[in-house]
Amino acid sequence: MPCLFSANESKFYIADMDNMKNMTNIKTRFAPSPTGSLHVGGARTALFNYCLARKLGGKFLLRIEDTDQARHDEGMVDLIVKDLRWLGIEWDEGFGKDHDPAGIGPFRQSERLGIYKTHIKKLLDEGKAYYAFDTAEELDVLREAAKAEKQDFRYERPATFPTEDQADAARAAGKPVVVRFACPVEDVTVHDEVFGDVLVTADQMDDFIIVKADGWPTYHLANVIDDALMGINLICRGQEFLKQSSRHIVLREAFGFPAPKYVHLPLIMDMQGKKLSKRDGDVEVDLFRVAGYLPEAMVNFIALLGWSPGGDREKFTLPELVELFDVSGIGKSNPKFDRDKLLSFNTDAVATAGEARLLECFKEFLEEIPTHIPSDNDQILRHLLRANAGFRTFPDVLKKSDVLFAPNDSYPFDEKAVQKVLAKNDGEGYVVLRDILGQLAEVEWNADPLEEWLRSYCEQKELGMGKVAQPIRVAVTGTTISPPIFDALVILGKENTLARISRCLAEKQTSE
Ligand code: GLU
Repeated sequence: MPCLFSANESKFYIADMDNMKNMTNIKTRFAPSPTGSLHVGGARTALFNYCLARKLGGKFLLRIEDTDQARHDEGMVDLIVKDLRWLGIEWDEGFGKDHDPAGIGPFRQSERLGIYKTHIKKLLDEGKAYYAFDTAEELDVLREAAKAEKQDFRYERPATFPTEDQADAARAAGKPVVVRFACPVEDVTVHDEVFGDVLVTADQMDDFIIVKADGWPTYHLANVIDDALMGINLICRGQEFLKQSSRHIVLREAFGFPAPKYVHLPLIMDMQGKKLSKRDGDVEVDLFRVAGYLPEAMVNFIALLGWSPGGDREKFTLPELVELFDVSGIGKSNPKFDRDKLLSFNTDAVATAGEARLLECFKEFLEEIPTHIPSDNDQILRHLLRANAGFRTFPDVLKKSDVLFAPNDSYPFDEKAVQKVLAKNDGEGYVVLRDILGQLAEVEWNADPLEEWLRSYCEQKELGMGKVAQPIRVAVTGTTISPPIFDALVILGKENTLARISRCLAEKQTSE
């Protein structure tokens, strides 16, 4: 176990360098703020916390950090949960679980206000925190003054702290009443398992706000209290929180909470080396889901954003990842979010996924997007997946096959394809279509007999297969792009095929 941190022992955080494997009862957590949907960076944090807990025989907890009421979006809570589950990152305890044997919940911060209140009172009573009533304008004046003197702004602690009555009076007078932490004026070292010792000097520490004017705790306060009360002893999160950990350390000290280990993860960059953002394309997990990626490909790809098992190995399943995972594999350098690599991972994952798994994912995908393809006909869906073998993402399947399920009288015709395949050479394509209509009605509707019929028809008429197959394709799909023709026809069925050819002849040939 890491050494316990207490005000009496030392004012600095003392890192414990023991191997984590020697830690017992490891508990990690993912603590998203539902101000947006799950970003790939957040998914990586969740994944690494999951892996650490699984690998070290510990527990992984989910907590919802919803203290930012202005930016709160309730729909995001459900979406984050859905995205985590889609990725296969399941938690042992916390939000959404119906068991809480240790009685450490609730697991969303908006339901824990009473707990924070007790802790704030303790700090106020002990003189470790104080009320402040400065307006935004007053703070701006102070900031400007510091700037004029080329100094960093630091809030000046009053010689005596306002009383409760004074705070009430300020509130009554319409002033914004906050609580500030009386931060010890000393250097703080964050020991991080990835970035090593990170010194935050005393002049960088200040009396930061722990309760906002709206009465809600700040992220720092709620986060520290919850991690301690929920028994989190391994905190793994993005590098953007590394410096902030100094604030958490001093707060922990003030409460006498034990110290956790810290694992900060390097920032994810775009291919230009800038912080990954929306500018660069999709960054949210739900968007990759509706873009037809497989969760196993996403997980595999995300795992390599800042971590490597060593050697050349790049492909693994989630259980294999847990087996391979080690903090020593997390690097300090910023990983790049390479979308081409993700696409190639997905193409490979599609190729290696078993039929049942692919079908399961395809059905899930179809339920999320507008399509004519029925998500409840397994036989047809299997056929469709086989006919589209080699596809990269599910929309590739849709692009070629959605039209097969559209109403017979409304799919559009690509005029270029009509010209090239049907109308050219005095409408030779139309001639073929007219000619085969009657014959097709007699063919047994399966790939083999259809192929046999086409061959003998082509032989008899001394035509290349394409001269017959392409007009059929354009007639029944409106384009020259479709799954292999016999698959397309079988999926369509005889009746639809004949109806489509007739429609094509009626609509297109007469419009020539
Ligand atoms: N609620 C914070 C966020 O979503 C979590 C920070 C942490 O892991 O401590 O960014």
